[in-house]
Amino acid sequence: MNHKLAGRIFNYATVCGAMIILLAVLYYSDYGAATYIAIAVGAVIAAAGVFIGYKYARCPKCSKFLGIMATKERICPKCDTEL
Ligand SMILES: [Zn+2]
Repeated sequence: MNHKLAGRIFNYATVCGAMIILLAVLYYSDYGAATYIAIAVGAVIAAAGVFIGYKYARCPKCSKFLGIMATKERICPKCDTEL
């Protein structure tokens, strides 16, 4: 997997997962099964994003973890390789 794609997935999945959890908590005041399902779905999406980001959003040369920087940085902060 491309590190830029992984960085993008990392960003979107963690934000989307957090948003789903936040919305579930905000809009379901009865704390029924739907709330728990929504929180579980959000947590799974966020965890998948973190996992993919942690595994693939790395510098192709020195394998430094880039995370959110994978989509923004053009040069690796550690080894100065062009990303
Ligand atoms: Zn590097």
